[in-house]
Amino acid sequence: MMASSAFGANPVPVLDVRNLSVVYGGVVALQSVNVSVLAGQMVSVIGPNGAGKTTMLAAIMGRLACHGDVEVLGRNQSQCCVEQRVHQGMSLLPEARELFASMTVEDNLLMGAYSRHAQGFRDHHGTMKEVFQRFPKMKERRTQLAGTLSGGERAMLVLGRALMAKPKVLLLDEPSLGLAPLIVREIFRIIADLKRSGVAILLVEQNARAALQISDYGYVLETGKVVLEGPSTELASDQRVTETYLGGSALKSRAGT
Ligand code: ATP
Repeated sequence: MMASSAFGANPVPVLDVRNLSVVYGGVVALQSVNVSVLAGQMVSVIGPNGAGKTTMLAAIMGRLACHGDVEVLGRNQSQCCVEQRVHQGMSLLPEARELFASMTVEDNLLMGAYSRHAQGFRDHHGTMKEVFQRFPKMKERRTQLAGTLSGGERAMLVLGRALMAKPKVLLLDEPSLGLAPLIVREIFRIIADLKRSGVAILLVEQNARAALQISDYGYVLETGKVVLEGPSTELASDQRVTETYLGGSALKSRAGT
């Protein structure tokens, strides 16, 4: 199951993370983590509470001091701040789904295009149209204040706002967190759809079942280390994964997330 390279020798990964380590005070939260995501691929990272999943995404995004290398399409991001990483094509959907509560849905979406606008791009109207096609409910609610949206609608808006940056790689931190099962299915359907549209996705999830069903490749993170990796179908039938993360029953099919 363990492989030195997730995808073989050929293409340059959209996101390549090498030897990523994070220390909080004296405590090692992440230790020499290697993760790769290829173009058009969805890669999941599963693991228990406190394993370091959120820390990993924050470090990749440049929100935390860390050791190791993060490359986007071969360009090293080590010296780049968060905003520069957004310019290079990274977009993070954080676990705490922060929105501008007193702004409308539409204005929240526009905030997502801020970085591209600062770079000189003026394509936000077209991008917003695409986002509205993907999330018709957001179009319906475009003038509603974000603070008055339901949990599921907030999840969609945060995802839509991340897409306004036209990311090459989308980092998703527990998109299903705190949502009702029906909404979780909807969110995972949208994420699977996004992947089909060509965005590379790194998905961090405690919902291992759903994550392995929609991803191509998976990593298991425990106490800051990758302890297992492999194609998601193989991970889903691995005894350790099934016992620890899937409640003892292997996934038989990838259908119906
Ligand atoms: P969860 O699924 O519960 O969100 P996680 O896998 O995302 O967990 P992290 O939030 O990354 O885990 O936390 C990893 C470890 O680092 C935990 O032991 C946590 O207590 C610790 N930690 C996280 N943030 C800090 C911080 N700012 N200062 C000190 N320790 C921290």
